Amino acid sequence: MRIAVCPGSFDPITYGHLDIIRRASAIFDKVIVLISVNTSKKPSFTDTERRMMIEENTKQFPNVEIDILDGLLADYVERVGAIAIVKGLRAVSDFEYEFQMALANKQLYNGAETVFLTASAENMYLSSSVVKQIAYFDGDISKFVPENVLEFIRKRLIKE
Ligand code: ADP
Repeated sequence: MRIAVCPGSFDPITYGHLDIIRRASAIFDKVIVLISVNTSKKPSFTDTERRMMIEENTKQFPNVEIDILDGLLADYVERVGAIAIVKGLRAVSDFEYEFQMALANKQLYNGAETVFLTASAENMYLSSSVVKQIAYFDGDISKFVPENVLEFIRKRLIKE
């Protein structure tokens, strides 16, 4: 079975992430969406909340599973027998960081390739942090996240 891992903070999941997950699920037999800790970012949503938001929006893909990473990505990939780490690549700004991560992961575990899918044109500038900023100032984020994620964001971030 060809397994791919799709890591990210998904804080919260956006249409940009969902586009990558959908496209990965069409290429691989199984896709594990892996909620990961980014030590340089303080999350707005708990692991459980992020998991719920991902679950609700990936139900339609029978070969997509969700897990939470506790440790090194390379170790996880090896443990589950994945052959690929799938990442979305937006504008030039993603490139340097993603390139470094891909090389580091290859050094740590040689058995999987990092595969980059280019962001769709409409999601090119979409990120969780942009969505949160817009929501915080009461902007319309309905084009960026599904309705149920919008509800989570309303409860958490929008000023009373
Ligand atoms: P963010 O930058 O939104 O906090 P994450 O750390 O959750 O993103 O990213 C997880 C993965 O999803 C990364 O590979 C990232 O490049 C990809 N991704 C995030 N937003 C988009 C988007 N709008 N289009 C394509 N890929 C994206």
